[in-house]
Amino acid sequence: MQFAKRLDRLPPYLFVDINRRIAEMRAKGIDIVTFAIGDPDMSTPSPIIDRLCHEARIPANHRYPETDGLPELREAVADWYRDRFDVGLDPDTEVLPLIGSKEGIGHIAFCFVESGSVVLVPDPGYPVYSMATMIAGGEPYYMPLLEKNDYLPDLDAVPDSVADSATLMWLNYPNNPTGAGAPLDFFEKVVDFARTHNIAVCHDAPYTEVYFDGKRPPSFMQAQGARDVGVEFHSLSKTYHMTGWRIGMVVGNREMVRALFTVKSNLDSGIPQAIQLMAVEALRGSQDVIAEHNVILQRRRDKLVTVLDEIGLSARPPDGTFYVWARVPQGYSGVDLARELLEQVHVAVTPGIGYGTSGADYIRFSITLPDERLEEGVQRLATWRGGSR
Ligand SMILES: *Cc1c(COP(=O)(O)O)cnc(C)c1O
Repeated sequence: MQFAKRLDRLPPYLFVDINRRIAEMRAKGIDIVTFAIGDPDMSTPSPIIDRLCHEARIPANHRYPETDGLPELREAVADWYRDRFDVGLDPDTEVLPLIGSKEGIGHIAFCFVESGSVVLVPDPGYPVYSMATMIAGGEPYYMPLLEKNDYLPDLDAVPDSVADSATLMWLNYPNNPTGAGAPLDFFEKVVDFARTHNIAVCHDAPYTEVYFDGKRPPSFMQAQGARDVGVEFHSLSKTYHMTGWRIGMVVGNREMVRALFTVKSNLDSGIPQAIQLMAVEALRGSQDVIAEHNVILQRRRDKLVTVLDEIGLSARPPDGTFYVWARVPQGYSGVDLARELLEQVHVAVTPGIGYGTSGADYIRFSITLPDERLEEGVQRLATWRGGSR
């Protein structure tokens, strides 16, 4: 067989060792508290499930769906954006449902990336931005997200020659893995930068509804001129605990939406209609679950950040997302500390290097574990006696 060379460019999975060790320890009966999984621990709300069950029995929903989704769903997305962000969208040209946002994030690379194309990618960042770039034959140019810059990329630090050759830029706020939010004026700077250098912007925004301290994050689409230069990817996964159902959307610039539709219509046949109608229920139904969920997550965040502070790991309380991004003590790398926490206190975390080289001195905690497990994990962390290696 002759496999395509593009497969060789993808780095091997990083945490083989640690995951093997976790499996070994579990096989020996050791109880491990894991802060390593970014998937909501709470279930999809019942009215949404009830709608799915109802729609599943209707024969019209047993057939091939359209790639651009039910008009009813596109309208529900547009109305949700209007109510939440005061942004008006044309449901027919500025909204496209996706099979989870990851699907669209991956496929849009084929609309902008050719062999040798440059794509601006945040580091640390969700790995799909750089992987999809490489699969399409392009080159990621990493923009470091540093604590001293509030985890926003320094756009002025991107050399003009790089910016002028780039076709696409990825951003993600509230940010996975750092938990940082971005103010609207940052998005306005992004619009200027994109105009100056003729770059298409993709803002990945699955966590706009996972926020703390009552501070609702903005949408990129609220920035003046955003729809001239870019799109926003969104998802029902994190907002309504629907990761398993696979449904998301992209909104904004109509040429970009149309280009992604062209690629998708040749690769997939849309989202099962019963799931699309389930999404309509989620978007149009009560939004109370969002605030309820955030109260629980904020309580978890505060418990974890407090203990991290006590044991010498510096962690800024996140503005949003499921993640706490903690700097490791002097003398450790993120990988060292992840190993040590696993061996000494039986707590699993993700080494920050998995999200890019700027994450080497960090570890990521996900707070999507039930309260009693989080409590157990926090107690174990409090007994860790490292911090001075
Ligand atoms: C979870 C996540 C996604 C993917 O979400 P789906 O809609 O479930 O595919 C995309 N981007 C980031 C940063 C995420 O954390």
